[in-house]
Amino acid sequence: MMDWIEEAERWVLHTYDRYPVVIVRGEGARVWDIDGREYLDFVAGIAVCNLGHCHPRVVEALREQAGKLLHVSNLYYTQPQVELAQRICQHSFGTKVFFCNSGAEANEAAIKLARKYAKLRWGPERYEIITMYNSFHGRTLATLTATGQEKFQRGFEPLLPGFRYCPFDDLGAVEEAITERTCAVMVEPIQGEGGVRVPSEGYLRGLKEICRQKEVLLIYDEVQTGMGRTGKLFAHQHEGAPPDIMTMAKALGGGVPIGAMVTTDEVAQAFSAGDHASTFGGNPLAARAACAALDALLQERVLDNCERVGRYLREGLQGLAFKFTKIREVRGRGLMVGVEFEGLSAKEVAKGCLERGVLINAIGERVLRLVPPLIITEVEVDRLLEVMEEVLRGL
Ligand SMILES: *Cc1c(COP(=O)(O)O)cnc(C)c1O
Repeated sequence: MMDWIEEAERWVLHTYDRYPVVIVRGEGARVWDIDGREYLDFVAGIAVCNLGHCHPRVVEALREQAGKLLHVSNLYYTQPQVELAQRICQHSFGTKVFFCNSGAEANEAAIKLARKYAKLRWGPERYEIITMYNSFHGRTLATLTATGQEKFQRGFEPLLPGFRYCPFDDLGAVEEAITERTCAVMVEPIQGEGGVRVPSEGYLRGLKEICRQKEVLLIYDEVQTGMGRTGKLFAHQHEGAPPDIMTMAKALGGGVPIGAMVTTDEVAQAFSAGDHASTFGGNPLAARAACAALDALLQERVLDNCERVGRYLREGLQGLAFKFTKIREVRGRGLMVGVEFEGLSAKEVAKGCLERGVLINAIGERVLRLVPPLIITEVEVDRLLEVMEEVLRGL
């Protein structure tokens, strides 16, 4: 294992502080390293492998499509892309979809579309986008600027003009920040990278009402919260406050890279041919995998499992919080769960869990993010709780 890690550090740009494990295989909620050691996976590719690793329907769809057609240009029509767009619209507010390859790209598309729409409809001075402090929208220059966290932006200035930030979960702040320059408000229904922060009940409905009154577009970044993560296909559906534009990526392809932006016919018409594009966007291989992933998600009672086991996990962690006062808060929805510590490094807890065969991701110094596959069982959650208790007792 160590030789692979040395080679990686020698040849691969160091943009990640990686855990010292070389993973070679995955199945369901488990992965195996190169030495044959098994791990329970509460990272799931960071909310990517919602169906577990190598879901048979996704693997089969990939095998079949790989033997038929891997790629053609978006200058031509392909069936998997159409079928995926139909499925996404059938299960969301949307009526038009743009395909790309990642979350950042989906958000780039959303930012460009919002600007173009506002320019055509209201004139050239209306381009400002309001995003939230503590948000995360990606690492390209536009999405990095949209991301309301200085630590991601430092060193890459000058940032893109036309962004403005508000505190998350504060409707008054957004209402005040909107001016005649504002074209859109962009928000994650639950902040992921910012520490699994769940807003107050009614927040999205409130945002929607403000945006309606002030005639600005509402954009949801559901890159992390989407595809069933919170117990509904899209997190905003808990509140029934549909946006004008929504982005998704991470779990959309069942482990294969694909992103999408979905919107209404009214907003979509702002883009004409040539306004935006992606060589690989909605490519037959990725789109076929995404169709299979979406079918499995909706047909195999995965959302029910997410809701039920999510509650079980949060209750179990709450139980640990009674025993260990260093757990400050357990929060989340469905199987998007954060544990915040006080006077204890989340990284140390993650390290202890790894040593005991459980993968967990620490975000920042204080928060553990648990985003396991949505097919995880109560028995597997029991194992995690056992391991965490052991680790906490030892620290
Ligand atoms: C992960 C994430 C992104 C960026 O997605 P990439 O595929 O890494 O570009 C954007 N927004 C949110 C909310 C995310 O969690």
